[in-house]
Amino acid sequence: MIIAIDGPAASGKGTLGSRLAQHYGLRHLDTGLLYRAVAKAVLDAGKPPQDKATAVVAARALDHAHLDRHVLQADAIGTAASIVSAFPEVRAVLVEYQRSFAAKPPGAVLDGRDIGTVIAPNADVKIFLVASAEERARRRTKDVEKRGERADFERILADIRTRDDRDTNRPISPLKPAPDAHLLDTTQLDIDAVIRAAIDIVEATRTGRGRG
Ligand code: C5P
Repeated sequence: MIIAIDGPAASGKGTLGSRLAQHYGLRHLDTGLLYRAVAKAVLDAGKPPQDKATAVVAARALDHAHLDRHVLQADAIGTAASIVSAFPEVRAVLVEYQRSFAAKPPGAVLDGRDIGTVIAPNADVKIFLVASAEERARRRTKDVEKRGERADFERILADIRTRDDRDTNRPISPLKPAPDAHLLDTTQLDIDAVIRAAIDIVEATRTGRGRG
């Protein structure tokens, strides 16, 4: 089984993806980490994220086995990732790895922006998460504070809006729900309620009660 989860920045895709994978005994790939790792490599090389040639070289050299979520979660890396991810050449390099990850038995949960539309258009279940930008900024602020770091809600909200705008309006693989995706609005839900709702969607789809 392949489950595709897409949604905007800080919508809880990663947590949902890993919990669903655990529940169904599937592998999990947080595809945002791939773009974040490329962005970090560009920044580490002393280049701006707009430097396409460096980004493509970094994508080709990416070590998929060693993606350090802890280091890659920084907001500055997320913002740079939304710039390098708009280069078609960078996406082309990363597509094959994601597709072959999805294809290996027993299947996988992948989360990102274009999983249901481009990476796994034949996924068994597609879920598109939605939540207001303010709620996502509140959650991200709490996460940062939990790590013992100082968080600036207004700056986090502005970053989320910038990233949403860039991801939604880019010409290649923009953030958008696949026609057969199930929309799940998490604005009023805590993480356990999101997981329950997602499992309901998967079960309904598997038993033929849902779309897709
Ligand atoms: O999901 P996450 O916030 O980690 O993603 C970081 C950035 O990587 C996103 O803002 C987006 O521009 C890019 N991304 C993408 N396609 C994906 C996953 C992430 O373009 N499948």
